[in-house]
Amino acid sequence: MHELSIALSILDWVALEAIRRRAREVKEIELEVGRLAGVDISTLAFSMQAVQRYSPFEKARVKIVEVEPLAECRACGRQFLPHCLFDCCPHCHSFETELLRGRELRLKSICVE
Ligand SMILES: [Zn+2]
Repeated sequence: MHELSIALSILDWVALEAIRRRAREVKEIELEVGRLAGVDISTLAFSMQAVQRYSPFEKARVKIVEVEPLAECRACGRQFLPHCLFDCCPHCHSFETELLRGRELRLKSICVE
């Protein structure tokens, strides 16, 4: 279950950010997860609860925002919603596509006191 190690990394990011902002308490942790990031959101939410219990951020509320993927075709220049990482363009069927978003896994913000 790699979501558990991801949750641990997220707590590291939260800790660094909390120190940087001299926070006494972290109230909310907001995460952005792309649908093509290869992360199961409900498993991640469960893993966050599990690792938070043994951290200074036990009471922080976790908000996970799922990011809809978007790709652009280099051949015809049109944008489309890809269903997997290497989806071809639905307009011209070219595989020369670039994923613009949908793979992110990041700490969007934390709310501190
Ligand atoms: Zn195209």
